[in-house]
Amino acid sequence: MKALTWHGTKDVRVETVDDPEIINPRDAILKVTSTAICGSDLHLYDGVIPGMQAGDILGHEFMGEAVEVGKDSTLEKGQRVVVPFTISCGGCFHCQVQQYSACENSNPAEKQDMSASLYGHPMSGLFGYSHLTGGYSGGQAEYVRVPFSDVGPIVIPDHLEDDKVLFLSDILPTGWMAAENAEIQPDDTVAVWGCGPVGLFAIQSAIAMGAAKVIAIDHYPHRLELARQLGAEVIDFRKTDVREALMEMSGGIGVDAVIDAVGMEAHGFAIDNMVDVVKQKVGVGADRASVLKQALLAVRFGGKVSIPGVYGGMTDKFPTGALMEKGLQVRSGQTHVQKYTKPLLDKIEDGSLDTTFLISHRLPLDEAAKGYRNFKEKQDSWTKVILKPGMAAK
Ligand SMILES: [Zn+2]
Ligand SMILES: [Zn+2]
Repeated sequence: MKALTWHGTKDVRVETVDDPEIINPRDAILKVTSTAICGSDLHLYDGVIPGMQAGDILGHEFMGEAVEVGKDSTLEKGQRVVVPFTISCGGCFHCQVQQYSACENSNPAEKQDMSASLYGHPMSGLFGYSHLTGGYSGGQAEYVRVPFSDVGPIVIPDHLEDDKVLFLSDILPTGWMAAENAEIQPDDTVAVWGCGPVGLFAIQSAIAMGAAKVIAIDHYPHRLELARQLGAEVIDFRKTDVREALMEMSGGIGVDAVIDAVGMEAHGFAIDNMVDVVKQKVGVGADRASVLKQALLAVRFGGKVSIPGVYGGMTDKFPTGALMEKGLQVRSGQTHVQKYTKPLLDKIEDGSLDTTFLISHRLPLDEAAKGYRNFKEKQDSWTKVILKPGMAAK
């Protein structure tokens, strides 16, 4: 089959590789119909996530048709499903309390050492996201093996086209959980850093949850315009002093909740961020955390901090003083996707949630490398790229 494989920093290629096979009784094999490139994939593309190996198949946002099922899979051949990017067994302690992204059984034992030493506990399995998270082949391919197919995949009714439901695999639940983690109250003013897909969906979710005011922070004009269309007020951080503006827009008290939808590759011009850029380049592994630092200073005393943006390592000069003295509530983490797929599918079906506005490009799988390049370099206009393995190459 054809698949998008990783070969190093800014080097991804569509190659012919072996077809996936059923390995465990709970597996299913999907024929992929749609798969998206995620902002998190750009961290792999940029080479800042450890544990990648040449030839790894990327892609954690995908859906398709079951073409082979193991004897303990609950799927039937021919069913169309969306698959959560988090691989979860459904039976361990964390799965039982719906903390699916902390599943204890999805990352094979021999892959657990690095994350266990970095984080104190091993990470669980994710599709197409380095050997730190299990080394699973991803779904930017013609076919993909789905472990625990009796737990994760959600069956999609025929009348809902791929474009309407594909984002249930990651970014829609991720944006939703980011807003939920900000525990939004009706009078709240919420600031969201980053108007990429997750930031925009967090804005949409925060508004749906009843936030009085949502403020979007970015510098790409088109992305800020999308945020405005969703109902947010906007700040262009290249033109405006963010902290001053947020103080003014929150009546001088600071915003009630902050959402960092940028993560560790923040563009920033503060001195400490420049130092972090250099350290990251030479492999010391400091995350560039200028957004999180700014958010911690902008949130009001007693406020709420939600971190859906990806961080992987350590951060220099982190404002622990602000964190403690301001009495903040911080919530973060990879999304517990399986918890959200059904309620969000219901919202898509009843028409109360539509995320198709985000899709800017649809490409055949053969053009995946071009998709990565442009999603990285033309972020303003390439807001979301969907790869269609069944689409003929031009
Ligand atoms: Zn993603
Ligand atoms: Zn589990």
